[in-house]
Amino acid sequence: MDKIYIGSHVSMSGPDYYIGSVKEALTYGSSTFMFYTGAPQNSFRIPTDKLKIAEGRKLIKEAGLNEDKIVVHAPYILNIANQLNESLYQISKDNLVKELKRVQDFGLKILVLHPGSHVGTGVENGLDSIVKALDEVFSKDGTEVKIALETMAGKGGEMGSSFDQLHYIITHVRNPERVGVCLDTCHVNDEGLDINDIDNVLKSFDEIVGLKYLLCIHINDSKNPMGSHKDRHENIGYGEIGFEALAKYVHDPRLINIPKILETPYYDGKPPYKKEIEMLLNNKFEADWRK
Ligand code: FE
Ligand code: FE
Ligand code: ZN
Repeated sequence: MDKIYIGSHVSMSGPDYYIGSVKEALTYGSSTFMFYTGAPQNSFRIPTDKLKIAEGRKLIKEAGLNEDKIVVHAPYILNIANQLNESLYQISKDNLVKELKRVQDFGLKILVLHPGSHVGTGVENGLDSIVKALDEVFSKDGTEVKIALETMAGKGGEMGSSFDQLHYIITHVRNPERVGVCLDTCHVNDEGLDINDIDNVLKSFDEIVGLKYLLCIHINDSKNPMGSHKDRHENIGYGEIGFEALAKYVHDPRLINIPKILETPYYDGKPPYKKEIEMLLNNKFEADWRK
């Protein structure tokens, strides 16, 4: 039987850093995980040689996790979608180069990135800016780490909210082999596609982007109805998408090799991931598990 790679985002903080992240993932019964190499909301980064990477990798090996399935999330303040703000555009590209090198330092291969916002300058400027930035970044970073552009909910000038935009980016960059997609179920729902109709979601993704470009799935329920353009995550089975629809993405044979990451909110100050992973793997929702 094929193995399902499922886990959650985990923290990374001192003094244990990476080995602490791996340990946290293992307490949830995870077979993969996602983390930020520093604070999500800024790009200040501690040098990777201080992050206990060797110890973390040793534990990954001992626990039988597959490093090809572990993903890093880029800081979300980066914005490569608006070249009219020259300084932020330049800082974002520089930090993306650094972040790709950091992912390589961890021995990992996938960096999830929010495609950014055109900030009122229009979708065309957004797409053009992203393509140019990726070309420049890939010419400088010297790694083979792939960037998984995340599907976004489409609030404000958020780019990456349609499969067409992602297709445009992939077909216009010089190194399409370095680009892929991270499909976030909450964002896709909020953007206006029916997550429950998995055949339609995967069919249109395959036709427009190509399933081979799907590198990661974020499994989140949504606090808001389809098409709300909100982006507020909810615990599995407690939101507008529902348990049954989300479990389909965990078990679908077409998605079997793709890492699945929960980014659901803490409940009552506690991480919900152990229970959520267990329910999703068993394909059985336990009503009122939050009590
Ligand atoms: Fe994200
Ligand atoms: Fe996400
Ligand atoms: Zn989100």
